[in-house]
Amino acid sequence: TLSDRLTSVLQNLRGKGRLSDADIDATCREIRIALLEADVALPVVKSFIAGIKERAKGSEVSQALNPAQQVVKIVNEELVNILGGETRRLNLAKNPPTVIMLAGLQGAGKTTLAGKLAKWLRGQGHAPLLVACDLQRPNAVTQLQVVGERAGVTVFAPEPGNGVGDPVDVARRGIEEARRAQHDVVVVDTAGRLGVDEEMMRQAADIRTAVQPDEVLFVVDAMIGQDAVTTAEAFRDGVGFTGVVLTKLDGDARGGAALSVREVTGQPIMFASNGEKLEDFDVFHPDRMASRILGMGDMLTLIEQAEQAFDAEQAQVAAQKIGTGELTLEDFLEQMLAVRKMGPLANLIGMLPGAGQMKDQLAQLDEKHLDRVQAIIRGMTPAERADPKMINASRRLRIANGSGVKVSDVNEIVNRFFDARKMMAQMAGRFGLPGGGSKNR
Ligand code: GDP
Ligand code: MG
Repeated sequence: TLSDRLTSVLQNLRGKGRLSDADIDATCREIRIALLEADVALPVVKSFIAGIKERAKGSEVSQALNPAQQVVKIVNEELVNILGGETRRLNLAKNPPTVIMLAGLQGAGKTTLAGKLAKWLRGQGHAPLLVACDLQRPNAVTQLQVVGERAGVTVFAPEPGNGVGDPVDVARRGIEEARRAQHDVVVVDTAGRLGVDEEMMRQAADIRTAVQPDEVLFVVDAMIGQDAVTTAEAFRDGVGFTGVVLTKLDGDARGGAALSVREVTGQPIMFASNGEKLEDFDVFHPDRMASRILGMGDMLTLIEQAEQAFDAEQAQVAAQKIGTGELTLEDFLEQMLAVRKMGPLANLIGMLPGAGQMKDQLAQLDEKHLDRVQAIIRGMTPAERADPKMINASRRLRIANGSGVKVSDVNEIVNRFFDARKMMAQMAGRFGLPGGGSKNR
């Protein structure tokens, strides 16, 4: 899966201070394969990768994120963008009723969607009317009536017993009925075929011409993968549509269809259906779909939190001090608080891809220990934190008593701090961090 692939790419990038062009090319190659596997159409993949490359190569070195995280962040942002960025709202008519027409292949989920939309619209304070214009299948009208009843809305259907009616005529009369009975939104359900079909297209186009809908929603099964593109193009050319609804997202669709349809037709995805029940429905959220495609919801959360907790200036100062060996316990405490602001450590590490096996050990990485370290540092005076060398035996005893720990605990923290400071200064010298090794040279 994309998630696995990215995880291994990320592992290769770990420990690099900055990305070379070769790193970026290799990462993009993996992402390209992964997107193709997620059923994204080739032309879409190509333009997407080109965009990522350009951004990654020109990107600033982030202080909050390591290079691998930075690539994921860029990929995610571009995905959200390509999926439409902001959620687009329904166009409501200035003079009600607003007419929403549904179009799509048979089995795409139009009739089910009609019920879901009706229920959702009611929740938004509207009084919808469903109009049954699928007169093709014997049970289609009954199906809409059942769905309408569940949603608690009225369904307009042709009178039974008159033979096969004319869907265009039913649509027109449905709108009249809505006006008469003061429904402010009309949802027109239409017939689909199993494949793209001239007659079906013509019928849908005729209904569109007759009722001049405010929205034509192209309903597409997210599970059909690459076929979504050809189907979408056929409907775009044959009927035209103003928005897309993805259905069956509860299946194991990787979301490639979403990306392709949006990019190829240029029309926004407006709603998402994820189950057979009326409640299994939501406004489409580009960010959620992006993390579904990336398969890295948790990773993205982590990146966000890291950026929020991170104060670039403070880190710059700390980096300087590390380089010159001037890091104090005060800085140490600040850094620790910044990291802890992101939540329990075990959770944070647990969010990293591949950390699954480490869960047991992580459970032992106990917060109490961190609390104790924090308490000990807080028990020191500002002078002691700024210059830990002055912390002699009697001061250690005072700190231990003040923070309710043993003197050996205080010793351990202070000694570890000196060791860490020495090591960091050496490393900074070697890797050219700001201020690197200026004192040790
Ligand atoms: P239509 O031919 O386009 O009107 O499609 P239907 O609304 O009749 O739906 C076809 C089948 O797909 C039905 O069995 C629905 O219960 C099912 N279905 C519709 N939407 C979803 C969905 O989001 N998830 C799942 N799992 N099934 C759905
Ligand atoms: Mg139907």
